[in-house]
Amino acid sequence: MLKKDFPIFSHHKKLIYFDNAATTQKPQQVIDTISDFYAYHNAPVNRGMYQLAEEATQLYEDSRATVAQFIGAKSEEIVFTSGATESINFIASTWGEKHITAGDEIVITELEHHSNLLPWQQLALKKGASLKYIPVTREGMLDLSNLDRIITKKTKIVSFLDVSNAIGTHVDVSALVTAARSVGAKILIDACQSVPHQKISVQKYDCDFLAFSGHKLLGPTGIGVLYIKKDIQPEVPPYQFGGGMVFDVGQTQSRWLEPPQCYEAGTPPVAQAIGLASAIRYLTEQVDFVELKKHEAALCKRLIEGLQAIPDIRILGPIEQLKKEGHLVSFTHKKHHFHDVGAFLDQHGICVRTGHYCAQPLARKLGIDGSIRASFYLYNSPEGVDRLLEVLESL
Ligand code: PMP
Repeated sequence: MLKKDFPIFSHHKKLIYFDNAATTQKPQQVIDTISDFYAYHNAPVNRGMYQLAEEATQLYEDSRATVAQFIGAKSEEIVFTSGATESINFIASTWGEKHITAGDEIVITELEHHSNLLPWQQLALKKGASLKYIPVTREGMLDLSNLDRIITKKTKIVSFLDVSNAIGTHVDVSALVTAARSVGAKILIDACQSVPHQKISVQKYDCDFLAFSGHKLLGPTGIGVLYIKKDIQPEVPPYQFGGGMVFDVGQTQSRWLEPPQCYEAGTPPVAQAIGLASAIRYLTEQVDFVELKKHEAALCKRLIEGLQAIPDIRILGPIEQLKKEGHLVSFTHKKHHFHDVGAFLDQHGICVRTGHYCAQPLARKLGIDGSIRASFYLYNSPEGVDRLLEVLESL
């Protein structure tokens, strides 16, 4: 049982933690890696001319290589950010600022997290571009029937999540990539909800940019990943300016280092990057992604079937797909407000998320203000799901 690796569960013995889509718990191995770094290896990276600084730099760069290998990228294609939110803002305000002009179209979907909506909405407003949405059906799937009218010759970028954090939908990535490529548009994938749960590859996805956050895959907060495909890097200017990213600074002109250094101004999140690499090592060494998917889908199926037997509950999202490959289930209760349900579950030691999960336009489309979401990971068990159902029945 991997659960024993997670100290939070020994400390809170009865804790049932079903808020993994928001953030995951951390195994002792990751906690130890971070504290070992501060205790024994801490020094500035990329600058010091002494042994300890070289050691810290090596650990930081090794972490970049670990991340790159994990998603099938090259090291120089990996930029460390503070999280997925910053990764997407990065691309909207660098590549987007340079290449989007009045009359251009930016395409996203109605499933998006606000992090992959607001940067594009604000850019479109600033530039006089239009923001178009691929619609969602009542079942929570993307409606691709009018795709050729949404993705057109005016489309400059198609930016979408591969798995929905709000209702768990798995998006048909290759259909969107094919449509975007056919008009020469760039592709950004928000992989926050896939990278922790399945083996993904930027090669297979054939995307130009990809973003995810470390804290959702057993890693620390304050670290995110931005993949920028090598071929596209000449089209992406630096995001911020300062130390660590310059080749030569003059009074009026300056030149930048090569990627990825030119994209990482200032002291980078060294301990966090090393912690993320430790989390990735834990996942690759201890977890079989095929088994993980089966485990999470079985928990979804158990919860869905239990919920279907409770009157007044409406399950959101593509139920059959969730039973086969989901890691989360969202639902509403006709008689009780979602926040009240969340507070009641908390009284029984069960952590779930309630609200609109930073996907307000989607909630509106589904005709709700918010819902209750149980999201699973490797340390969750069928007994936890049964307990959740039992408490819900006693509402
Ligand atoms: N996109 C998706 C699909 C997410 O689930 C999240 C986190 N809920 C984000 C983006 C934003 O991630 P972060 O807050 O870690 O930047």
